[in-house]
Amino acid sequence: MGFADILGQAPAVETLRRALASGRLHHAYRFEGPPGVGKELAALAVAQTLVCETGGGEGCGRCGACRRAVTLATEEPRVPLHPDVVFVQRGLYRGILGAGGGEATGIGIEQIRRVVLDRVGFSPHEGRALVFIVRDADELTVQAANALLKTLEEPHAKTHFLLVTSRPTRLLDTIRSRTLPVRFGPLPDSVVTQILRKRGLDEAVAPLAQGSAALAIELAEPETKNERDEFVASARQAVAAPDLVPGLKFAESRPKDRDGVREQLAFLAQTLATDGRLLVEKDPTTAERRAREHALVLEAMDAVEKNVQPGLALEAMVVRLRQL
Ligand SMILES: [Zn+2]
Repeated sequence: MGFADILGQAPAVETLRRALASGRLHHAYRFEGPPGVGKELAALAVAQTLVCETGGGEGCGRCGACRRAVTLATEEPRVPLHPDVVFVQRGLYRGILGAGGGEATGIGIEQIRRVVLDRVGFSPHEGRALVFIVRDADELTVQAANALLKTLEEPHAKTHFLLVTSRPTRLLDTIRSRTLPVRFGPLPDSVVTQILRKRGLDEAVAPLAQGSAALAIELAEPETKNERDEFVASARQAVAAPDLVPGLKFAESRPKDRDGVREQLAFLAQTLATDGRLLVEKDPTTAERRAREHALVLEAMDAVEKNVQPGLALEAMVVRLRQL
């Protein structure tokens, strides 16, 4: 694991590599971008470079320090084995922080005090660098964020902060102004496909993953896949049936959960689009029909997003599909 494993994020990786090579790494960054696109991999690659025993321009990935930086303890809290690579994350130290560790509302001030502030005054255990990786940094409570400000403003020698967030606008302005942004974009479908292939997972879900490797991997889970296939089969059955009864059943049987229905509609739309593309030459009439069906499914997705109750949106969709 290292910079070479971060796919599809050339500008971000280049920025970090250059800063590391020139010895001008800022002491506090925030890595922002959608979930599951490599922000955390990048944070770990920076941490490896900073603690690597070879002291080269980039973590070697093979020495003990590099390996411990990216290997998590098997027991709670699941943090890197390297004592100078420190995770900060909501609820991570539940067992250690006691009553203050539940952190129902976000990363609490107790965690910042005990895990961060108690450490920053001291030199790193192994002498090279002390790296704090704040996961989902947007979950810092106001108190916790305020407790961090001074440290972010007046860096200690050899101490680095990497704040990782997919919701950068939720960070306090005072945190934003004290951190340097590195932006990570959604991954191109080709990269998502490559990641799925490497893991031996179903590549067909790549276009559904909105550029997120994490979401793609979740979508490729056999259980999720079965649910989607069942959804598409029921929708098609409902449209082809002689009356509306199967359509009503289909609409009623769906969970109320908006995200789930939206995701399944996205898959249905994808299926229709692929179908249509394959038929363009052989059967233009059916291809044209698939295009119109595709448009109706997109409208249903839109309705679900605009807060129409999922069941009603599905019912309306089936009715209109049957009229085509
Ligand atoms: Zn190394």
